[in-house]
Amino acid sequence: MFDLPNRYPKLREAVARTPLVDTHEHLQEESDRLALGDHLDFAHLFQAYLLADLASAGMPVDEIESLSAEEVSQDEKWRRVAPFWEWARHTGYGRAISLTIQEVYGIARLDATTYREVTAAMRAHNQPGVHQWLIREKAGVAWYVLHDVEEKGDVYRDEIDLRMCRQALAVNRFLEDPLPLDRFAARTGIRADSWEAFLATIDWYFERYGEEAVAIKNNCPYWRSLYFEDVPPERAASAFEKRYKRGQPLEPGELKALQDATFHHCLRRAAEHDLPVQIHTGYLAGNRNLDLNRIRPSLLTNLFVQYPDVRFDLFHTGYPYQGEIASLAKNFPNVYVDLCWAWIVDPYATRRALQTFLGTVPANKIFAFGGDVRMADGVYGHARIARWGIAWALTEMIDEGYLGQDDAAAIAEMLLYDNARTFFGLS
Ligand SMILES: [Zn+2]
Repeated sequence: MFDLPNRYPKLREAVARTPLVDTHEHLQEESDRLALGDHLDFAHLFQAYLLADLASAGMPVDEIESLSAEEVSQDEKWRRVAPFWEWARHTGYGRAISLTIQEVYGIARLDATTYREVTAAMRAHNQPGVHQWLIREKAGVAWYVLHDVEEKGDVYRDEIDLRMCRQALAVNRFLEDPLPLDRFAARTGIRADSWEAFLATIDWYFERYGEEAVAIKNNCPYWRSLYFEDVPPERAASAFEKRYKRGQPLEPGELKALQDATFHHCLRRAAEHDLPVQIHTGYLAGNRNLDLNRIRPSLLTNLFVQYPDVRFDLFHTGYPYQGEIASLAKNFPNVYVDLCWAWIVDPYATRRALQTFLGTVPANKIFAFGGDVRMADGVYGHARIARWGIAWALTEMIDEGYLGQDDAAAIAEMLLYDNARTFFGLS
């Protein structure tokens, strides 16, 4: 399944063989995966977003939660999930899992006769080096950019595998409500008891990690709008004092002003450190949380104007607003298009969107892949769907006389590797 089209061998070879620069991952530490031991089972594969499609198909929330519970046996998990897997397995999330099971673990399909075999294969490979095996050897990823979302990581994870990992400063932590000020203080030694001290806390992270980091990351559409006004510092300071000195709740406008000023501060620091800004735009993972008004890429337009020297890496094709991303990246030299996560959210729309982007945006500004998963197994299936989609998109463009085969093959190498390597300064 997911065979690459074979009409243009040079293109096919380029898509199949070019290593990936993976712009976005949330991968757990390998040691955390190893620590799962005999609790690792087939249901862990569903963490690569399928849980949301199981819920969408009608699986009750408590049963979905039980799929991650250590005390529930894998037989019971299979009994509960089987009917919903049957309905959800054709989505991009489901197909990616099936590809991993078939091509990494060598088991034809996940069903009642094989789930124990899948679990056994996963456990057998759960040895030191499993991340290198899954991510580099199997998925063909040369480098990935980590956005750490584990609680203990706290803005920047200290221990990473520098052979294949680089990291984005998770500035979204500075936009949380309430702010984890105690954790920041434990890390930085700065007690953020005023707005100025909070900004000094942020500066500490930029000073400490700005050299090693390759970007900053903001995934705020999960809790607020992408529209960041440049509010006067006094407003942010008074909101900060009200919330953290007097312990009073903020009005929505006050909270927004505090976060707006915080992110503008991060953008000024990003400019000083020449760190690109990775921003979640478009669709949200999960269920019952989608607000189409706060995820639109065009909400960021004032930032592109105000910070012409900051490079913005817009994630997830802005789905379902791919046209906004195309027009913004065409218009603003500092705006880039990133297809991370998109190949499993909507494989066919992403394939069409790639054709749209290639017809509108200079090819050096398009990054074709980011796995966006926590379990390393998920990188493989996602990468396979991405290579399949890229190969088909370019094959169709050759068929229709829009591109020649040599150009298409060269573009494939740029999309998969060169563009992101240059953008993030990887070497
Ligand atoms: Zn993500």
